[in-house]
Parts: sequence; structure tokens; C-alpha cells
Amino acid sequence: MAAETRSPAATRRTFAIISHPDAGKTTLTEKLLLFGGAIQMAGHVRARGQNRRTRSDWLEIERARGISVSSSVMTFERDGITFNLLDTPGHADFSEDTYRTLSAVDAAVMVIDAAKGIESQTRKLFEVCRLRDIPIVTFINKIDREGQDPLALLDEISSGLALDLTLWTWPIGMGVDFRGLYDIRGKRLMMPREVRTDPCGRSVEVKEPGEVIEIPEVESRIAGPALEEMALCLEDLPKFDRASFLEGHLSPVIFGSALRDFGVGELLDFLAQHGPGALPRAANVRTVEPDEPAVSGFVFKVQSNMDRNHRDRVAFVRLCSGRFRAGMKLYHVREKRPVAINAPMFFFAQQRETADEAYPGDIIGIPNHGLLRVGDTLTEGEAFHFEGIPNFAPEVLRRVIFSDSLRAKQLHKALSDMAEEGVAQIFRPVNGAWPILGAVGTLQLEVLASRLDQEYGLPIKLENAPYEMARWVKSEKPEELKRFVEANRSNIAEDKDEALTFLAKNAWTLNRTMEEWPDIRFLAVRERN
Ligand code: GDP
Repeated sequence: MAAETRSPAATRRTFAIISHPDAGKTTLTEKLLLFGGAIQMAGHVRARGQNRRTRSDWLEIERARGISVSSSVMTFERDGITFNLLDTPGHADFSEDTYRTLSAVDAAVMVIDAAKGIESQTRKLFEVCRLRDIPIVTFINKIDREGQDPLALLDEISSGLALDLTLWTWPIGMGVDFRGLYDIRGKRLMMPREVRTDPCGRSVEVKEPGEVIEIPEVESRIAGPALEEMALCLEDLPKFDRASFLEGHLSPVIFGSALRDFGVGELLDFLAQHGPGALPRAANVRTVEPDEPAVSGFVFKVQSNMDRNHRDRVAFVRLCSGRFRAGMKLYHVREKRPVAINAPMFFFAQQRETADEAYPGDIIGIPNHGLLRVGDTLTEGEAFHFEGIPNFAPEVLRRVIFSDSLRAKQLHKALSDMAEEGVAQIFRPVNGAWPILGAVGTLQLEVLASRLDQEYGLPIKLENAPYEMARWVKSEKPEELKRFVEANRSNIAEDKDEALTFLAKNAWTLNRTMEEWPDIRFLAVRERN
């Protein structure tokens, strides 16, 4: 079906790239934008990051560490398809942010370094995708460098992740022997642009990527065995089956080199042809279909102070149904009231632009002053909320120390802002002690402390908390829960949504408490809302 005759939701490709740091996510992102026509030259993503940092000077720590902390959204169009690439931070400490971003995509590209294979962060993120049955395309990067044997890599991925693979492209040699990339469906060999020299040092004819060529005699030493191996592999591996791909069971494998432009066009073509459009989304009362006429969406990320002069806060909303138009009023389900959506933004690769219209799968940025929190649902009046945006029990807990008691109120407000934004979690002990901050990784807390100082002028210190574990507590028996809270008052806190939390000294005390209180549920994951 031609793209124009499909519904707008069917022409959206909303995806994220998951990878271990250094596998090549930034490079691939740049090249996708380049191939998609969104940017003119490579190096732009990084350069853009620099500009943003110097312009608004926010997230001092990001600059100091040279890492990317904040996610962004990049939109580009190619052949009638709108690609929305949601960037996820690569650092392991920011996995919470990444998890939330993955709740807003319909597909993921898993980038694997051909030399390193599956790494810890790849596995973690893959598991999140699997939990949500997100379809995954596997991009094995850096084939222009020495890597593991392709067969060994495929074996590692399929057995290590229990994932069926199907071949899309195949490398002809790797590292110094790299001669090009074979496109299996197109039956063509793509070769490096530069003039190559044969093993005897003679120069060989220049070929453009994409040009169909006969494999030269001189290359048969490399090409022959590579193609034989490919043939064996094709016999062994399952054929592509779209249904199986969409269910998240079968992943097409694209060998490539983001740096040298191999496999990038194939990846975009694959997503355009076979990738899912905007998918239905589960809400508490029913499943919401993308082609429903009424607008609905949910906030998966909040970012504050993107522009320091305006002290703004932007909620990133993934649209799930309907046609969103600028100037609309939407129903804020948690607040139980309609809200005007002022100056909604698209996040194009180059700048923020005012959105006139947006469709399921699209992301819009809504400036607000704290009204919208991560997990909030917006509809045209129906009172349902989308599910699947979790809070994870923190793995690091720190107590806030702040000497300026006159500004304590200001600090509490700033901490609430940060908690709502999802920078870290805040637990307020019911006995009135200083708040405890929780995060999945320590870097998250460093970011928080740095931002409190930079943006609010509130220098705090963090010291080890007397707790190592936090669990949300619930019970079907309200009386029992009350008894539990009374008996453990010094270990009970409330999170930003006033959900009761048990703070345990360590795993051993937690286990003992769980045994003592069989009617209390101790939750490591809490769905927002
Ligand atoms: P990220 O941490 O996953 O975002 O990785 P980057 O995109 O920053 O890449 C990490 C390093 O690998 C950089 O030095 C890149 O230039 C290099 N790199 C990325 N892709 C390729 C590739 O296809 N081939 C080679 N040789 N190097 C690459």
C-alpha cells in the first residue's frame, strides 16, 4: 500500500536505539538523521549537544562528564514515512529514564559492537523490550573493524537472548579484510567509496555503495568464503516473518558500519517497509487503538529548565490516538479537569517547532509549570489512564543534608519538582526527618545535587542513608497495613505521590520483615498513576 493512502498512524515509525555505551548509538543516530535528510552533515548530533549546552548552560554535570544525560526526540521524514527517534541516555545509571522512554516507542534498534557482542547494558535493555514485546531490529555495528566471526556473533545473540534471528545483510570480510556489505534481499554488494587496493597494492576500480557489481576475481579469497558462510546461515536461520517480528520473537539482523555508512539505508528501508506504525496501547479499562478519533496520549518524560531564561518545564507526550491540533483543550485524567495545551512543540532534529498537527506515534512537547507529571494521561474526556510507566525501587538511597533552615521550604519544593520530573525519587519519612533520595544509580543523584545548586541556588550535601532498600507497601487488609506502619514508624516514608514506602536497613532486614508480615506486599516496582 502506498504511504499516502495509509492512515497517519500507520506511517509513523516511533523507535529508540538501545545499546551498551560505545557500541555506536550516537554515530548511528547521526547517520539516520543524515540519511533521513534531517541534517546536512555528520557530527551534527554532537555539535548540537555542544551548542545547546553552551547556549542554555543547563546540566553542568553533563558537560563536565562529557556524557549525555537527557533524552531528546528527533523527527524526520523519508518517502512519506515519519520517523520519530527517541534518544535514550547510554549511561547505566540512567536506566530509569531509558525504561520510561521505551514505554513510548513501537520498535527498537539494538546496536551491538561486532567485536564485543552482547554487553551488560544491551542485555538489560533488551529484557525491558522483551517485557513489552517491542519488535527489535539488530544492528551489528563496526564491521569495518576486526570483529568476531559473524556466525559466532549470531549464535551468541540468538542463544544469549533467546531470540530468533533472520538475516538482512551480510559482511564481506571484516577489519582489514572488509570488502563490503551484501544486501540479501536486493542481491547486491555495496562497497566502500574510496579507491581500494588489492592485496598486492594495486588499486581497484571505485564503486559507489548500492552499485551492483560482479565480485572481482581478486576478492574471491575473502568474498568466496564469506558468501559460502552466508549461504549456510541462510539455510539455518528462519525466513523473515513480519508477524513474528512484530510480536518481538524474530529479529532481522543488519550487519553494518554506522561510521562508514554501511547498513544505515537498509535499516531505514527495513523500518519503513516492515516496521510497525503506531501500535495500540493498553489503558486501565481498555486498549486504545491508534485510529480512534479522540485524542489520547501520556507523558513519558518531563524535562525542566531546557531554556534557563524561561525556567520552563516541558512534558514529552506520546500520542496514542486521534488527531492532535494546536489550541486543543485536553482532559487531564489525574487532575480530573480539562487543561489548555499552549504552544505545543515538535522536536525536529534542528530546532523546536510549533506543532500544528500531530498523530499517533508522534511526540509533542508541552510547556507547563508542573501540571504534567511522568505517567499522566491526557484524553478528550474519557477517564482512563495508560499503563506501563513504572517506578523502580531505588538501588541507592541518600539522606539530604541542608544547613540553611530558613530555606527548607524552598528546598522541599525544588526536591518535589525534581522528583516529578523523574530525576530521582524522594521519600519523606513520616516521622519528619530529612528526606531520603533514591535513584537507580549514583550519577542520577549527582545530577540532582548539581542542578539544585545551579538552577535553584540550593547547595545540598548527600550522606549515606541508614537504609539500603526501599519497597512500596500495600495490603488487601487496610487494618494490617495500619498496624504495620505503626509498628515500623521510623522506617516508613511517603514518596512524591504519597505512596507508603518501607525503608529497610539491608536485604536481610527486608526479608525478615517480609516473613513477619505475610499480609503486606513489598513491591519493587510501582506503576505510576
Ligand atoms: P555510543 O556511546 O554508543 O553513542 O557510541 P559512539 O557513536 O559515540 O561511538 C563510539 C566510538 O566508536 C566512536 O569513537 C565512534 O567513532 C566509533 N564507531 C562508531 N561506529 C563505528 C563503526 O561503524 N566503525 C568504526 N570503526 N568505529 C565506529
